[in-house]
Amino acid sequence: MRQPWRVAIIGGGITGLAAAVRLRDRAPAGTEITVYEQSGLLGGKLRTGELAGQAVEFGAESFLMRDPAGGESAAVTLVRRVGLADAIVHPTVGQAALAVDGRLRPVPGGTLVGVPGDLEKVAAVAGTRNPDSPGSSGSGRAMVISATLA
Ligand SMILES: Cc1cc2nc3c(=O)[nH]c(=O)nc-3n(C[C@H](O)[C@H](O)[C@H](O)COP(=O)(O)OP(=O)(O)OC[C@H]3O[C@@H](n4cnc5c(N)ncnc54)[C@H](O)[C@@H]3O)c2cc1C
Repeated sequence: MRQPWRVAIIGGGITGLAAAVRLRDRAPAGTEITVYEQSGLLGGKLRTGELAGQAVEFGAESFLMRDPAGGESAAVTLVRRVGLADAIVHPTVGQAALAVDGRLRPVPGGTLVGVPGDLEKVAAVAGTRNPDSPGSSGSGRAMVISATLA
């Protein structure tokens, strides 16, 4: 008698998890599928955290609903497969912000695909530039983190 298959999937990000689901659906009955994840947390770069008291996606925060041919995207198909179709919501308009000393401040204008183009403006918002000394980098005390707020 043929031995059942044993499959190891390395990495429990969305790629590994989607592969595990696909294998579960298509591999012969009795196939043993094991996902190995080094970090202790599944999801990889998909992770929800908290910043300044608000839920924030630390990685991806949205996915395409359609594929290039206009059909349902693979992401939507996977969401349906795992029974989460009713939980899909369209992203609300958000505003990028800088977290400075625990407070969120709007990212100054002049961004290119969300990346600030003028570091002087960012430094002014972050409070690291001494207004009395143009070009000064100041104390460097403030911590600057970019975040997207719902
Ligand atoms: C800030 C950011 C924003 C993003 N925004 C979007 C977005 O809005 N929409 C979108 O579609 N995509 C977005 N992406 C891209 C998307 O998040 C990634 O393409 C996707 O999550 C990658 O998934 P993955 O499973 O391939 O890799 P990962 O998520 O990197 O997962 C790989 C996993 O494998 C584990 N691993 C690695 N080596 C080993 C090993 N030897 N043994 C065991 N485990 C191992 C890692 O710990 C990790 O958990 C974004 C990415 C980032 C970083």
